[in-house]
Amino acid sequence: MFDKILIANRGEIALRVIRAAREMGIKTVAVHSTADSDAMHVRMADESVCIGPPPSPQSYLSVPAIISACEITGAQAIHPGYGFLSENAEFVQIVEDHGITFIGPTAEHIRVMGDKITAKDTMKQLGVPCVPGSDGGVPDLAAAKKIGEEFGYPVIIKATAGGGGRGMKVAMSADEMESAFMTARAEGKAAFGNDEVYIEKYLTTPRHIEIQVFGDGKGKAVHLGERDCSLQRRHQKVFEEAPGPCITPEERAKIGKICADAVAKINYIGAGTIEFLYENGEFYFIEMNTRLQVEHPVTEGIFGVDLVREQILVAAGEDMSFGQDDLEINGHAIEVRINAEKLPNFSPCPGKITAYHAPGGLGVRMDSALYDGYSIPPYYDSLIAKLIVQGRDRDEALARLERALGELIVDGIDTTVPLFHALLQEPDLHSGDYNIHWLEHWLAENMAE
Ligand code: ADP
Repeated sequence: MFDKILIANRGEIALRVIRAAREMGIKTVAVHSTADSDAMHVRMADESVCIGPPPSPQSYLSVPAIISACEITGAQAIHPGYGFLSENAEFVQIVEDHGITFIGPTAEHIRVMGDKITAKDTMKQLGVPCVPGSDGGVPDLAAAKKIGEEFGYPVIIKATAGGGGRGMKVAMSADEMESAFMTARAEGKAAFGNDEVYIEKYLTTPRHIEIQVFGDGKGKAVHLGERDCSLQRRHQKVFEEAPGPCITPEERAKIGKICADAVAKINYIGAGTIEFLYENGEFYFIEMNTRLQVEHPVTEGIFGVDLVREQILVAAGEDMSFGQDDLEINGHAIEVRINAEKLPNFSPCPGKITAYHAPGGLGVRMDSALYDGYSIPPYYDSLIAKLIVQGRDRDEALARLERALGELIVDGIDTTVPLFHALLQEPDLHSGDYNIHWLEHWLAENMAE
């Protein structure tokens, strides 16, 4: 096992990794920009190294600075968290070339899943159900129009290199194809340096259901059921839960096995998430994330396992601590993402926290790097806390969420907490009856900008 690991990240996810490492008796190294000298992850780690100025390209994304920090401190492995360098195949290669272990999948797996066309092809071959659409890239407008006719409108044009909701355009009819095709291509080129696009049937009322998988890199893999992340704003998840309110045990077992078998076949190592759109009882693969997800705690809650600990174990060449038969769902867990943003338009709201009190009690987990007097810097993601609650069933979890939100105090800045108070008054939220468009419609009606 490693003696010391470096965490190439900040905020709550850096704390999350430090906590797992500490329980395993592993020392931790935090890296930070000059804007984060007072950050909680720096205080909580055993050692810290300043790796550059505030803008992330010069600090949290600076590969030479991070490798140097590893060499200076003697860290044997790097945990990337999520975001930043977590899905950067080139980074993984450089890490390995320096004799340091990357806590995550191989560069090759990241590369394959990072290109959406290759990812879809691979998943199709592994028996994972995909959204019907073009076979690979679509070279020009004429070919795009032909596919639109073949599959029927609406269709979605997606940049193969796209991510974070960028490089995607919907064409509702043939008339819209030209502009959607050209825009998706241009966005792919501008944002990702790659103008290749492909086309899929656009599903009109799907839910977002994702399957958590975990592989040991030696041909063994398990699934840890699904998370429902259908409540999204601008393709960003805001409320996630497990198990999914509309998924039956039979559906879970079936799609879970397909996913576990698929990643076992490619000797996948570590945590991964296979994302699906779910409509009329069918699952349609959209992408695989080769990292720990922001919303992993809801899965940890219902299965009682520590996914970061398992990531570290398999990265060190050890076996996972559980198998498929050890996994049993216990209750219901919900996570809400609390951002430093001002409603109704969700504008970033960094600043000084003048008072902070985290909720507690039975079934409440608060993953956050906030503290009284902390100044949220303006340079990074606006996520400041993840409130995760668990109950014996969904109703109990929802009641607990409302109670815990009521206890939370974050003064000095605006946050998205009022959004959750308002959502909890909605009958649809309680019935679980919504699709990926529900929140956008609700926001348009209830929080017009
Ligand atoms: P990104 O990598 O940019 O997040 P994804 O492929 O994961 O892109 O898609 C992001 C979101 O776009 C999905 O969660 C869903 O809301 C929507 N979407 C993607 N593909 C389709 C589709 N074929 N039909 C309907 N909505 C889609």
